[in-house]
Amino acid sequence: MATAVVHYTAAAVTDRGRKRPSNEDAFGFSVEAGVYVVCDGMGGAAAGEVASTLAVDEVLRLLESRAEDGPRPLLTVAEEAVCAANEAIYSRALRNHRLSGMGTTLVVMAAQERHVWVLNIGDSRCYRLRNGRLEQLTLDHSLVEEQVRLGRMSHIEALRSPLRNVITRALGTQSQVTPDIFEFEAEPGDLFLLCSDGLTRELSDADIQSLLLRDLSLEVLSARLVEAAKKAGGHDNITCLLVRADIHCREGQNSAEGSIAE
Ligand code: CA
Repeated sequence: MATAVVHYTAAAVTDRGRKRPSNEDAFGFSVEAGVYVVCDGMGGAAAGEVASTLAVDEVLRLLESRAEDGPRPLLTVAEEAVCAANEAIYSRALRNHRLSGMGTTLVVMAAQERHVWVLNIGDSRCYRLRNGRLEQLTLDHSLVEEQVRLGRMSHIEALRSPLRNVITRALGTQSQVTPDIFEFEAEPGDLFLLCSDGLTRELSDADIQSLLLRDLSLEVLSARLVEAAKKAGGHDNITCLLVRADIHCREGQNSAEGSIAE
């Protein structure tokens, strides 16, 4: 009997872009631990880098070590990791006045077999390409996107607004923060994109979709996305993390892991 299991692969690229002197974005992932993170720091170059790197490191560390404290639901550990990252940034900023006010966006994808959770704070996004169609899974915590959702502003106005950089939720700027959580089941062939706004400010969803539909490796695709955003202006730091859910058949094995067909 053949059992089909979901298997994830990932690749990422980050780039300073063409205008900014430094890169305040950060990313990290562990396919083994099923965790993928993108953060976009703020608070001035040095502080922004500290915040985004701290967040990525803390989330990865806690999710990678979760097996040590027994089997616990992945979502619970992911939520705790986000809180711990918030606390780490907030307390570091309190101790060091040069880092005062630093913060970061955060988008985390946690996958266990077919179950996928996405947690987000701020305006870094998670998209899913399924059956050739790109869908934005997260909602931006930004002033302009909230106005768009309320029907008070168009997408074009949002892109041009002088307030487009204002985010309404950030990691590390307050003692507590609550992420939005999205939960769903992966389908074979799903392609997930975690990215900072340096990508989505330069490229439309249609641009991103048509690039992702090309039959290329994840490494090449993420590099192409970054190159396209730089070509379109590269006004901000750009980070793309791609994760693909593939199906693999295992012969003669009764695996409980991510069974989708027998
Ligand atoms: Ca940014």
